[in-house]
Amino acid sequence: MQQPQAVSFDLDGTLATVRLRRWRLWRGVVLHPAILAGYAGVVEELRGERPADLDAAIVARLAARTGGSTDRTRQVVDEWIDRRWPAAFRHARPPRGVRALVEACDRARIPRVVVSDHPALDKLAAMGLGGWAAVVSCRALGALKPLPDGLHAAAAQLGVPVRRILHVGDRPETDGAMAAAAGAAFLDVATLARGGLPPWAALPSTSPRSWRTPPPASTMRPGPPCAPTVPTRA
Ligand SMILES: [Mg+2]
Repeated sequence: MQQPQAVSFDLDGTLATVRLRRWRLWRGVVLHPAILAGYAGVVEELRGERPADLDAAIVARLAARTGGSTDRTRQVVDEWIDRRWPAAFRHARPPRGVRALVEACDRARIPRVVVSDHPALDKLAAMGLGGWAAVVSCRALGALKPLPDGLHAAAAQLGVPVRRILHVGDRPETDGAMAAAAGAAFLDVATLARGGLPPWAALPSTSPRSWRTPPPASTMRPGPPCAPTVPTRA
């Protein structure tokens, strides 16, 4: 694999596992079982579409599915998906292989970005992961993976050709397909978990700069408060 000009990381299931964090939503699931149980399915249905207002489309479809009002559904999504769920990432650490790749980027002075379906700033802040050159929310762009808009946005912010970006993610059918649609390379976290660092990243660690610091606000893409990940694959 040629050394990339930038490395893009998915968040949920890549920079942090999500499976064991879902228990933090147990109270919401008790209070609003239909909405929280249906959220992920609606997000999956909207992949590949570019509605004029993606957030409104999610809420409208979810309300229709559960028989609730759109106002009430939006309130529940705002509170539990966008506000409480990101807090569940407090002190989360990336898996070892992902951490090694992040450190390799820093040693090689390769800019790294986050391209997530959902707003990621609050989650990154909760994790204390800094040093990102850009943070892109595909939901804020109105084009969930596997549409390539998120990677194109990251490339534009960095000023690098999108085909020279390596995207790292846990879902080949969304992360991998997005990379393919953009002409970028893809690395599955499962490969990293097996110790499969790319050759350019496999040099022994010397003194990577610290990346466990809050990212400077000026480097972050503003977006709506953090979001959903609840029922995606870990
Ligand atoms: Mg993921």
